[in-house]
Amino acid sequence: MNLADLTRADWQQAATDTLAATPTGLFLDGDFVVSNDVIESINPADGAVIAAVSAGTADDIDRAVASARASFKGGSWSRMAPRDRMAVMYRFAELVREDGRALAVLDTLDMGKPITAMVEDDLPTVADFIQFCGECIDKIEGRVTNTDSESLHFVRREPYGVVGAISPWNYPMLMAAWKFAPALAAGNSVVLKPAEQSPLSCLRLAQLFVEAGGPAGVFNVVNGLGEVAGKALALHNDVDKISFTGSTAVGKLMLQYAGQSNMKRVSLETGGKSPQVFLDDLPDLDAAVEAAIYGIYSNQGEVCNAGSRLLVERGIYEDFVAAFREKGREEFTVGDPLDPDTMMGPLVTFEAQKRVLGYIEKGQEEGASLEFGGGVPKGLEAGAFVEPTLFADVNNQMTIAREEIFGPVASILPVDGPEEAVEIANDTPYGLAASIWTADVGKAHRFVRDLNAGMVWVNTYDEADFTLPFGGFKQSGNARDSCMESVVSYTQEKAAWINIAE
Ligand code: NAD
Repeated sequence: MNLADLTRADWQQAATDTLAATPTGLFLDGDFVVSNDVIESINPADGAVIAAVSAGTADDIDRAVASARASFKGGSWSRMAPRDRMAVMYRFAELVREDGRALAVLDTLDMGKPITAMVEDDLPTVADFIQFCGECIDKIEGRVTNTDSESLHFVRREPYGVVGAISPWNYPMLMAAWKFAPALAAGNSVVLKPAEQSPLSCLRLAQLFVEAGGPAGVFNVVNGLGEVAGKALALHNDVDKISFTGSTAVGKLMLQYAGQSNMKRVSLETGGKSPQVFLDDLPDLDAAVEAAIYGIYSNQGEVCNAGSRLLVERGIYEDFVAAFREKGREEFTVGDPLDPDTMMGPLVTFEAQKRVLGYIEKGQEEGASLEFGGGVPKGLEAGAFVEPTLFADVNNQMTIAREEIFGPVASILPVDGPEEAVEIANDTPYGLAASIWTADVGKAHRFVRDLNAGMVWVNTYDEADFTLPFGGFKQSGNARDSCMESVVSYTQEKAAWINIAE
């Protein structure tokens, strides 16, 4: 079955079939266990309750961590020969591809992402990334250092043990995979706590890991509320590393929880307010405007590295705003996310819709110029939809330029030359991503040098590959995900010194 050929009716059928067959318990020790507490998963496209999913308590987290610890100690995974572990990861990736119809529809139903984005982006990237992490396994190396002839000093890399992973809802499977796949590849056992807004697909992923030959207890999934299950996991004294993706505010809590408990290692991928800088001498205005439109409206703007601040040099400012106004208003078809023609679905929840509409109101109050959008699209009032929205004449002190909106709201700010552009670009607590658009190679390199961001693109935006470490500076976090370094980051170094004197 080619998923790209399915129609809206086919996807509606897939939704019915999948919801009837998808487990909703906690995945502990290789099996589903039903708990008394539940969270309801709500389809933000129409407000319907689609599933009641077991919600873990602190006791459930204890059980999951105990299962992970026992599997780690037992060595069925942590000491499996690299090539055998690689084979399981490859089979896991293949099963994700085979189960694509169900996995894709679950994330669309849970959080409103258009099905076409699931089929073209999230799903293949999740499968490929699991495979990539498998490929990394026998490339992880230690080192032997230069010592005197009577000693041998070497450094080996070992898995941490039990990794707690806490993931967000904006790419439910993919953000979880960025954690569990490298952690598993490195030989750890994992307890994953997905976001409460999108609990379904990760349960299925953990089941596929076991089907692929992963030992029971190595990959556990406990859904539940952040302040209950997430907090219990991050505070747990038998978790060796916590890997978190989500908001900066909760990321800071992770550091506190680690300090209050066992000083577990903490890796963080948090928020962003990423600038794209467009200089007067950029090579192609239309291409730049198109990238700006996709950089902010893709995934409903619910992207950590959304290019939400567009800094445009005065000489092209009027033309840039006019081109964005003309193309950006119509480019994204908003509608039912199960329709393959839809490019923008609803926001994740009605609460998120309210928050984003609040920012739009604030933008107008503070004097930004609303160029289009700003409301709920006509005919879609039953869902958590927000129109693609553009503000121009924004300055960097306005709330819409400072806070992460996490919705389809673009802000254009005029700038007077490269120096001011760098200053404004860096004037944010975040530092996830940035771009520079210019035909001058010297300027491009100076921006790469001067922008305080973990990723800087030149004359393009949001290009990704497993060769690009994904992660931020400043309050955007400290992790580097989606790359070989991320697999290595789930290991720790042990130094051994051997006296070989006669
Ligand atoms: P969030 O911080 O509200 O929640 C993220 C996860 O943390 C969820 O699983 C949630 O249940 C859990 N959580 C919440 N409170 C907790 C607590 N007190 N203790 C333990 N766990 C807790 O974020 P969100 O709304 O799900 O996701 C959106 C945010 O994620 C945005 O800020 C976005 O920029 C960020 N994000 C960053 C990246 C990146 O790679 N840098 C990627 C995707 C999303």
